[in-house]
Amino acid sequence: MSERYTRLFTLPGSLYAQGSPLIILAGALLKDNQTGRVLAQLKLKNVGTKSVKAVKVSVTPLDSAGMENGQPVEHPYLDLHAARDGEFGQKEPIPFPDPTTRAFRGAITQVVFTDGSLWGPAEGAWEVLSPSRPLESVLRDQELCKEYQIQYGANCRVFPREEAGLWQCACGAWNRQEEESCHACGKNLDQLKGFDLEQLKASRDARLAREQQAMAAQQAAASQAAPAAPSKGNRPQWLIPGIAALLVVLIGGGVFFVNRGKPASSGSSASGGGTQSAASDDSGSAAGGDDTQSAASGDSGNSGTATAASPVDTLCNFIREEGEIRDRVDFPAFPIYYEDCYVYEKTMDSGVKYFFLADEEDNDLLWFHAQWPVDSNMEVTLFYNWEEGFISFMPTVEVTSNSGSKTSYILRGSVDIADYHANMDVTPSSVEEAETGAEAPEYTQPLTKSCTSLMHFSILRLSELCEEVGISMDDLGFINFENPVID
Ligand SMILES: [Zn+2]
Repeated sequence: MSERYTRLFTLPGSLYAQGSPLIILAGALLKDNQTGRVLAQLKLKNVGTKSVKAVKVSVTPLDSAGMENGQPVEHPYLDLHAARDGEFGQKEPIPFPDPTTRAFRGAITQVVFTDGSLWGPAEGAWEVLSPSRPLESVLRDQELCKEYQIQYGANCRVFPREEAGLWQCACGAWNRQEEESCHACGKNLDQLKGFDLEQLKASRDARLAREQQAMAAQQAAASQAAPAAPSKGNRPQWLIPGIAALLVVLIGGGVFFVNRGKPASSGSSASGGGTQSAASDDSGSAAGGDDTQSAASGDSGNSGTATAASPVDTLCNFIREEGEIRDRVDFPAFPIYYEDCYVYEKTMDSGVKYFFLADEEDNDLLWFHAQWPVDSNMEVTLFYNWEEGFISFMPTVEVTSNSGSKTSYILRGSVDIADYHANMDVTPSSVEEAETGAEAPEYTQPLTKSCTSLMHFSILRLSELCEEVGISMDDLGFINFENPVID
């Protein structure tokens, strides 16, 4: 086994104590297989209004029974320049003296602001925040999500919420309770709270009716002018309403906070013949491909996500040049299909077939799909969401029980591109039976290995493609792809 680090534990969610200027977005316990050391890593986010220059945390080691396993370890983060919304800490190891440590509790004990003032410790406990809820998981209808974005802004991605003295805007940004409007995008909290589902449904229905009328008129005009102009539907077409929610399954402890502006291409919904609602256009909104207007309002696009970084463009252009265009590609496990796309396909000596798929013009998502020879019944589909910086995966694995019966399981999850390393474990966030859709949590453990190796397989193919194209994995946002940055 050559993997250097094994992940032993992950914090159950983001941690927050009322009044704190920082959130502990995520945390993991890693075992260094070379030295036997066990270390923690925390990812912190400044949700206060002042810039931060130093932070002290206290991390309490726990044993495998969850009992305290020695004294808390104090750790300083120094020489920071963490402005509001800034994230840091994720590359800094916090070693534990006792290698039998298997979990930990974390708390921030002191924050030093750039102006010299101090905060901490918190009066209350550090508790797990409830997870962010992507719009799709709440509204469960693509057209309803679109309507929400029409009403509240193109950058809406999560359902707003108030918790522990903070509120999270629909754009993903965290605000203080005393702030009436989002500091990042200016949306007003009261307006967001005034959300009315019935009203939203009514305006969606009215819009769809208008769009259908317009489409019918257009088709009538077109059929007089020329025989059947092919309808253009570049985007993946959802076969199951609400599936987009699955794609965002846990965008992860903290890749939120991106003020997105997307290229316009609206209007082409209801391809394939004008179905009323969800099953139409617009997969993308979940994962970052929504087709609303470009950057609404005065978002300064602060957090610097590379929307169309040139290496990504280079990669997609390569696929378009070297690949072949196809009318339709199905992803059985997801399940969606993609129309009018470019596919760059290869077959390995082992018989494994795989391809990269690029949209005709949109570079935000890159799809990968691999299928093993029939007898192994394994396949993996994933996509790289460059803009949001994560990889969403969904492998299907067949398991043979002691009695010889075979069952296929679908694993779902996602990982942060910047945090992905070639030797990390990849844990699915959910496992279900392919046929029944029933949850199968008891299989999570054994299937994690398959998930990890399928993920590595996929990303290895990407790194080969990068080599072929002449760009590096770092260019694509994989930071120190070969080795995590831990001494
Ligand atoms: Zn906002």
